[in-house]
Amino acid sequence: MSDAPIIIIGTGLAGYNVAREFRKRDDKTALVLITQDNGEFYSKPMLSNALAKQKHPDELPMGDAAKMQHDLNAKIHTNNKVTSIDPQKQVLLLDTGEQLNFSKLVMAVGANPFQFPMEGDATSDVLTVNDLDDYRQFRDKLKNQTSVAIIGPGLIGCEFANDLAANDYQVKVIGPDEAPISTLLPTPAGQALQTALSELGVNWHLGKTVSAINKIDSGYELTLSDGQTVQADVMLSAIGLRANIELAKAAGLQCNRGIVVDRYLKTNIDNIYALGDCAEVSGFVLPFVMPLMQSARALAATLAGEPTQVSYPAMPVIIKTPALATIVSPPERGAEGEWIIEKTEQGLKALFSQGDTLLGFVLMGDAVSEKPALTKRLPAILI
Ligand SMILES: Cc1cc2nc3c(=O)[nH]c(=O)nc-3n(C[C@H](O)[C@H](O)[C@H](O)COP(=O)(O)OP(=O)(O)OC[C@H]3O[C@@H](n4cnc5c(N)ncnc54)[C@H](O)[C@@H]3O)c2cc1C
Repeated sequence: MSDAPIIIIGTGLAGYNVAREFRKRDDKTALVLITQDNGEFYSKPMLSNALAKQKHPDELPMGDAAKMQHDLNAKIHTNNKVTSIDPQKQVLLLDTGEQLNFSKLVMAVGANPFQFPMEGDATSDVLTVNDLDDYRQFRDKLKNQTSVAIIGPGLIGCEFANDLAANDYQVKVIGPDEAPISTLLPTPAGQALQTALSELGVNWHLGKTVSAINKIDSGYELTLSDGQTVQADVMLSAIGLRANIELAKAAGLQCNRGIVVDRYLKTNIDNIYALGDCAEVSGFVLPFVMPLMQSARALAATLAGEPTQVSYPAMPVIIKTPALATIVSPPERGAEGEWIIEKTEQGLKALFSQGDTLLGFVLMGDAVSEKPALTKRLPAILI
């Protein structure tokens, strides 16, 4: 078994970055990566501002699987799904029927878009964008079309709304929330973003959900919970992602909102680790790039024989809405404290504090210049 390779499932930013960091420390141990996609290496955040950057989807990959295989001195199985894992025998099964032994296993299997129940004859035409192939499909569908309905006024929905509206698409955003990005922004900050995107031409249908979607001659008609209808040529769902835990659960790994791991990124079973969007690290599910980079560096050291705990400093997220530059460092879920919100000359500053202790912030417009100073005042997430 000791001759078996280290296997990483997933070639997203988490899988590829842990492989890269590992190779900086160990260029000999056999390394295998498995992915159900084609193994292109690309930066997923680019998907929601590629129009503004005038990037065709085929310009986004920084390397294909062959290049990554060479650069990482690894074997990469592409278009192969792992269907089961036997943690005791340290073997996994591919959808081709092939079995692979591992010495250590890293789960970097990401997250899946939420599905939501709706009536109508066109529900299967609603697109989601969670990888480059989805995005290629989305861009194909946009060709010669003028209007897009975005279901979900969250971070990703707003980024796409900005990118599409700035490129002359008529954008209609629908969702039950009172204001955009309600999970990260206090209402006045969400409303400031809503105003800025409205000035770009975005139409909003907030406080409503979609109950039915049907085909009409000119595209699609979405019926909202209050009976109102909205028409669009293309529909994009951005209602959120849920950690991909099915494979792990079936293998007996402990799962909660994500695959449960400790600060060494280790699951409840020896030699099996998880990081990225699929992982719940010491209770935190943080589906962003900075946490997975921190995790990749720590896990690479552990895999190379130097057990290392991950630490998470405060990691503000830049929301890619050029209509109103926005940076957010949300307080921990359930943190006690209150928001104090102040309009600045050309933006907004919202600080979440408990007494004198700053626990989170939102900076918009000209206030984003305060990011370095305020980030220093935030407590680390995991010291
Ligand atoms: C449009 C968009 C914009 C974003 N913008 C930002 C941003 O600006 N800043 C930021 O910090 N974050 C952003 N994010 C989030 C960030 O991109 C993700 O946190 C990150 O890319 C997740 O990487 P991952 O490797 O964990 O997962 P994924 O990229 O989802 O990779 C999962 C991998 O697992 C493979 N896989 C899954 N199951 C199996 C299986 N059974 N067998 C084989 N392979 C399997 C998949 O094929 C894939 O290779 C954005 C996300 C989206 C969708």
